[in-house]
Amino acid sequence: MNRRDWKFLVPLDSRDLSRLAILLDVDGTLLDIAPTPQQVQVPGSLPQTLARVRGRVGGALALVSGRPIAELDAFFAPLRLPAIGGHGAEMRPVADGAILDGRALPLDPAFKQRLKAIAAGYSGVVVEDKGYSLALHYRQAPKQGLGVVHEVKRAFDAWANNSFELLAGKAVLEIKFAGFNKGTAVRDLMTYSPFSGRAPIFIGDDRTDEDAFAVMSDFNGQAMSVGRKFPGIEDYFNAPADVRRWLERLSEGQPEGLAVLS
Ligand SMILES: [Mg+2]
Repeated sequence: MNRRDWKFLVPLDSRDLSRLAILLDVDGTLLDIAPTPQQVQVPGSLPQTLARVRGRVGGALALVSGRPIAELDAFFAPLRLPAIGGHGAEMRPVADGAILDGRALPLDPAFKQRLKAIAAGYSGVVVEDKGYSLALHYRQAPKQGLGVVHEVKRAFDAWANNSFELLAGKAVLEIKFAGFNKGTAVRDLMTYSPFSGRAPIFIGDDRTDEDAFAVMSDFNGQAMSVGRKFPGIEDYFNAPADVRRWLERLSEGQPEGLAVLS
């Protein structure tokens, strides 16, 4: 990303971050995508960078992920941040507070078994059972991806349960409760201190992030994407490394880093 891309639409004084909240997707935004979800690498300096950014925005820094919050905590330990997990199935509005779960209907065990049986027919497909949802990752089986997608879609349609939805992300399918998404979860989070009343910046890279992109304007906030342009979103980072660099500059209060907020 070059400097020309570092323009910012949020109307903030360059030295006043007290009106800003930063909301970050994790995989593909903060961290590079790995062959399997468990193989992602967290750069050693990243937790400290995030801690400093949190300090600069008065605590209004949150992770917004499809992963369970316990996994996010493990990645960034000892840092704990306010977080949305499972696309909204879990929420922890206060870093040291409890995880509010029970927001999702549990996925029917018999249908889970059906999905696991489909996955077992394809070598390289990784099943991630989050309890309240099930994800099938086929990054390691790209040639069989179409077959997996087709079979899962057919099974999902035959199941005909309107309380759930089938999400298609980057080499992943996920069946989750339809009553929330990253957008509704971000709306909820924005009602809690210190987020409420601030202008959020949400950075994300995948289709499921579009729900959160869509609510930014309601909070006078800004959406930024990673890896590609999304419809209606001007600003984007080329890669997670650029997001991390931007956060570093923000954390250090380098003039150039703050300039993007002018
Ligand atoms: Mg992502």
